[in-house]
Amino acid sequence: MPQLASKETCTGCAACGNICPHDAITLRPNEEGFLQPSINPEKCVECKLCEKACPIVNGKDLKHPEVTQVYALWDNRTRTESSSGGAFSAFARNVLDKGGVVFGAAWTDEFTCGHIECTSPKELSRLRGSKYVQSDINNTFKAAKAALTEGKPVLFTGTPCQIAGLRSFLLKPYPNLLTIDIVCHGVPSNVLFKNYISKLKAEYPQYRDATGFSFRNLKGWGLQPAVRLQDKSMKHLSGIPNLYMHGFNRGMIFRESCYDCHFNGLSRVGDLTIADFWGLGRQGTPFSHNQTQGVSLVLANSEAGRQALGELKDCFIEPRAVEEAIPYNHNLVASTKLSPDRETLIAAFNNPELTLKEISNSFHLTNKTLKGRIKSLLKKSGLFWPVKSLIEKIRAL
Ligand SMILES: Cc1cc2nc3c(=O)[nH]c(=O)nc-3n(C[C@H](O)[C@H](O)[C@H](O)COP(=O)(O)OP(=O)(O)OC[C@H]3O[C@@H](n4cnc5c(N)ncnc54)[C@H](O)[C@@H]3O)c2cc1C
Ligand code: SF4
Ligand code: SF4
Ligand code: SF4
Repeated sequence: MPQLASKETCTGCAACGNICPHDAITLRPNEEGFLQPSINPEKCVECKLCEKACPIVNGKDLKHPEVTQVYALWDNRTRTESSSGGAFSAFARNVLDKGGVVFGAAWTDEFTCGHIECTSPKELSRLRGSKYVQSDINNTFKAAKAALTEGKPVLFTGTPCQIAGLRSFLLKPYPNLLTIDIVCHGVPSNVLFKNYISKLKAEYPQYRDATGFSFRNLKGWGLQPAVRLQDKSMKHLSGIPNLYMHGFNRGMIFRESCYDCHFNGLSRVGDLTIADFWGLGRQGTPFSHNQTQGVSLVLANSEAGRQALGELKDCFIEPRAVEEAIPYNHNLVASTKLSPDRETLIAAFNNPELTLKEISNSFHLTNKTLKGRIKSLLKKSGLFWPVKSLIEKIRAL
């Protein structure tokens, strides 16, 4: 039988499942809810292609040389609909304009995140917005290969381990492929997220008819989780109903591989890297533009990435020092620290007998620092964004 990555190191990238020519590999949720390959010995012919495609097992160095500068960027057309500055949409639009195909993470049902293929600008809105859940790759590596073989320009976006999985799966470089990895702190499972939603609906009548979820603020830059109700209105979450994000922000509910991630650092697997440019202008050269609507951090890691950046239209782009990007974005260069309570907290979220209140009481997840309490008060009073904007203006003086 082939030897794939262990439970601790497997990222769930699905390269093995996509490459198996005999359909012998199925990715199933493990006991914590994370997708893990399982091999059907009756179908497996021991060709070992899956070992060759696994970026953890094959040991291939897929990383581009370290960048020496980064960019602050926003897309004038989609900045307010995106998680940070809309860098993803700007690159994606350019690929679609050339008759290409874009792959990325969408909600594939109300509360499940999975990768999909987009061929029109209208469909891109499904990919916009960070979903803080591990996206299921499904068969998108196969679909990307089919488009690449037809000679279409292809943009594939995802977490760095997913980009490593795709490039490993392809077995050779394609000149018509552009990849974007996101700076990534780690991912919880779709299973845990759905279990949290079930508890939320059962325990809080105001969220009972939830039909969707948004992790980011739609009017400003930052996190502001909200539930979409049947009448399409958005209802914000705070305190115990927001327990998923409390676990997430403390880095306690991620996949095991995320705590020793092979794909962070300034040497990256994607042609481009995008993230939130937290800390922009706080040291070195001041940044004199308004940041409250979001600014993307962009790294152009390869020739293909630099070319794509040069082709962007309708964007603000300013080169910045690499050192500026690191202090406020720890996960650009390092993994999230493993919490001793990770396993028990994941088990608690997945236990149908436990309520959110009971979990909160056991793990003290909603305790806030003074800074956190002030932020909450400002958000509730509607003063958060005016105050933030004023602080940014003072900083830029
Ligand atoms: C799991 C996760 C971890 C993150 N960790 C960090 C971090 O540590 N530091 C930081 O600065 N920013 C982090 N981000 C935010 C990310 O950097 C921004 O989403 C990114 O900069 C895109 O910004 P944009 O304005 O171009 O956004 P958008 O238009 O909102 O971009 C959406 C893009 O993100 C992709 N995407 C969304 N959800 C997922 C997902 N679950 N899995 C894979 N791809 C997804 C989409 O495919 C699309 O390409 C994280 C996002 C996710 C989803
Ligand atoms: S060894 Fe070959 S047939 Fe067996 S699971 Fe791997 S890819 Fe499939
Ligand atoms: S290819 Fe990806 S999903 Fe398959 S074993 Fe390796 S890391 Fe896990
Ligand atoms: S932290 Fe690393 S292993 Fe975890 S999802 Fe992100 S890229 Fe993959």
